[in-house]
Amino acid sequence: MTNFLYDALLAPHRNNPSVLFRLKDRTDWSYQDLIRSAGKIAAMLDSIGTSPGDRVAAQVHKSPEALALYIACVQYGYVYLPLNTAYTPSEIDYFVSDAKPAVLVCDSSAADGLRATTESNHCQLLTLDIDGTGTLTRQADTVTAATEAKPRDKDDLAAILYTSGTTGRSKGAMLTQRNLLSNAVTLHEYWQFTDKDVLLHGLPIYHTHGLFVATNTILLAGGSMIFLSSFNIDDYIEYLPKATTMMGVPTFYTRLLADNRLNKALVEHMRLFISGSAPLLAETHVEFEDRTGKIILERYGMTETNMSTSNPYEGERRAGTVGFELPGVDARIIDPESREEKATDEIGILEVRGDNVFKGYWQMPEKTAQEFTDDGFFITGDLAKRDADGYLHIVGRDKDLIISGGFNVYPKEIELILDEQANVLESAVVAAPHADFGESVVAVLVAQPGNSIDIDAVKSAASAQLAKFKQPKEYVIVDTLPRNTMGKVQKNLLREQVKDTFA
Ligand code: AMP
Repeated sequence: MTNFLYDALLAPHRNNPSVLFRLKDRTDWSYQDLIRSAGKIAAMLDSIGTSPGDRVAAQVHKSPEALALYIACVQYGYVYLPLNTAYTPSEIDYFVSDAKPAVLVCDSSAADGLRATTESNHCQLLTLDIDGTGTLTRQADTVTAATEAKPRDKDDLAAILYTSGTTGRSKGAMLTQRNLLSNAVTLHEYWQFTDKDVLLHGLPIYHTHGLFVATNTILLAGGSMIFLSSFNIDDYIEYLPKATTMMGVPTFYTRLLADNRLNKALVEHMRLFISGSAPLLAETHVEFEDRTGKIILERYGMTETNMSTSNPYEGERRAGTVGFELPGVDARIIDPESREEKATDEIGILEVRGDNVFKGYWQMPEKTAQEFTDDGFFITGDLAKRDADGYLHIVGRDKDLIISGGFNVYPKEIELILDEQANVLESAVVAAPHADFGESVVAVLVAQPGNSIDIDAVKSAASAQLAKFKQPKEYVIVDTLPRNTMGKVQKNLLREQVKDTFA
């Protein structure tokens, strides 16, 4: 038995002297630096009693050492469990109690607040700071780097990623070596990554996008990354000329567009811009092409499934769509009541199947069983439709669906109309409880900077274009929409904010 993931991502680079991480305030790291650092961490974790299959949790800032910790886990068969840096100690307590990791690595500033949690869960606490210092690397420096990888089966777990959990408790998605490797191979080929690629990487590495989509694809291709701790507009303007590709969430693109230094000359040499993790407005897609001459490639995926669909590399990248199923992925749109497949342009729930799809939720067999169909499709919970040319459109989450007076209202349909109105920058449509209709529609609007919205004009546009039951019954204007770090609008917060509208 071999270790497929390590053999594919790292082993080919054992003698590769080229740069992997281009860093802003530190010396660059080569592939060999990553392999050596990961080998030391793997051996050190082994020496303190960590065994294959044990979870290794990490709430750490983005650094090459943090990525070396992930690689160490792959190498020695520990299950890597990255945690959002924004989580509070009480949230971390839930993850540690649930996943029972053998080791938790945190920033040294957080260690005191987490000691009670690690002690009561028999978990060892190590530290790693953004500059690469801490007990993790200090102890790793005292051991000889492991050069071999421990054997793993393709169905052994490589990682557990907790979902963002906007409803109920966050669930641990169990990802196998097969899931990660199959997706990396597919994306590497589909998006035509090579060892000449330099990826501008400003995404967090506790999420599937920055961790697996970006990093695994680059490792497989043998390219390099400009590894920035987060998105910062000045850094992006400075580093874009040195990159060939960029992966971003839609807010990266809107922030770039808001800066007048973004122009054709700045990105002329760029091979590919990819967007995902939240819907990219068709308007942003069009504006980006107008300004730069580059057509953003939008793809779709989730923590549980890795990447499932993508617009084509060659061929039309259609604004407002997430393209087609990736090779090896089956996708279908199902009516949740009749279980029949929906016809062209009809909205239903998207289900996907393939090697990319996770093994299940950690210690939640019932929840896992509910979310898979008998023929092995994962029920994504995303509402989608397929157009006549086969392009898939994501129209929202099923839990965002509004049922008003027995009629289904799809927020996206209304948001598209609201977004077109004068002085409206963006909108979000949510439900508020309503005595007569069960739920009714509330529109939350953000004005273009320096402008104000004429609500009466918006109302008359809505009544001209939408059936009565879809028309917002109330309009709220806010400065900004609440978003998480991946750029997703947090509709749960908006629902809470407007819940008494019709009381
Ligand atoms: P996460 O597990 O945090 O990656 O979130 C996955 C969810 O993000 C999906 O279920 C979708 O609701 C949303 N999502 C990801 N990519 C896209 C996209 N390109 N367009 C629309 N929604 C997306």
